[in-house]
Amino acid sequence: MTATLIDGKAFAAGLRARVAEEVRALAARGVVPGLAVVLVGEDPASAVYVRNKAAQTVEAGMRSFQHRLPASTGQAELLALVATLNADPAVDGILVQLPLPAQIDPQAVIEAIAPEKDVDGFHPMNVGRLATGMAGLVPCTPLGASMLIDSVRPDVAGLEAVVIGRSSIVGKPMAQLLLQRSATVTIAHSRTRDLAAVCRRADVLVAAVGRPEMVRGDWIKPGAVVIDVGINRVPSPEGGEGRTRLVGDVAFAEAAAVAGAITPVPGGVGPMTIACLLANTLQAAKARRGI
Ligand code: NAD
Repeated sequence: MTATLIDGKAFAAGLRARVAEEVRALAARGVVPGLAVVLVGEDPASAVYVRNKAAQTVEAGMRSFQHRLPASTGQAELLALVATLNADPAVDGILVQLPLPAQIDPQAVIEAIAPEKDVDGFHPMNVGRLATGMAGLVPCTPLGASMLIDSVRPDVAGLEAVVIGRSSIVGKPMAQLLLQRSATVTIAHSRTRDLAAVCRRADVLVAAVGRPEMVRGDWIKPGAVVIDVGINRVPSPEGGEGRTRLVGDVAFAEAAAVAGAITPVPGGVGPMTIACLLANTLQAAKARRGI
């Protein structure tokens, strides 16, 4: 391996510590930021995320409010809860865990969250703020990924950046963040022709697809910064039946032999997401009070 390993786990721990320090200073002034997390239904993966978010919120010295609603919850009921949280002065951040059950339109819920409490950064107001270069709340996963890029390549101006994936949660906001830093940005997706050739141009390559090890070593430009957002569970080669392991969208060993710097999976972008959620909650708490 020739690439520098970008240690997202360590970076996230540092970010959480910085957030906790600021929260302590705020608490000394009588301000304790609060994050409300809403889970509808019993999706096991979502339940784990919500539990981790709550635990890390408390660890950072903030208040955590958890709302668990049954899978049968109607849209009106969820919107009523969001309205209550919007009006609650103890709540600085609101996160409704996705996916939602089929009877609820996720976009209606996202648009109901007060933009100043939208710590996921999914409200059209925050999406528009990011697109127009105004201060706002930025989606946590691409925000974390961009911090990891900054840690190894602080100046990407004029560089070729390729983002694979065009979701509203990762790909599009990632591209906006790179554009803000004056990279020359290409968004590739499922309809892109000759994806390998597009990737080979990239000085900064971000993969956010959800296809295990799709990006091969010979797609990587020598020296490139490779950020692997993908989280894919695949059968484990060693171990018995039913054993699985996590891999990214990038074939790590091949890519690490060519890249200049690369994030591992797990331990790369993953831990940054919750750390950035805490940072966003702190930002929202300060902004709401004009601090
Ligand atoms: P998504 O399914 O919404 O979007 C995937 C994107 O990949 C789409 O825009 C699609 O056009 C593109 N794509 C699909 N097949 C392709 C192909 N063959 N070639 C090129 N592009 C293709 O997924 P998402 O929510 O953006 O998440 C992407 C990945 O990132 C997933 O593995 C997800 O688990 C992971 N993820 C990780 C975190 C985290 O680290 N905390 C957070 C969010 C998502």
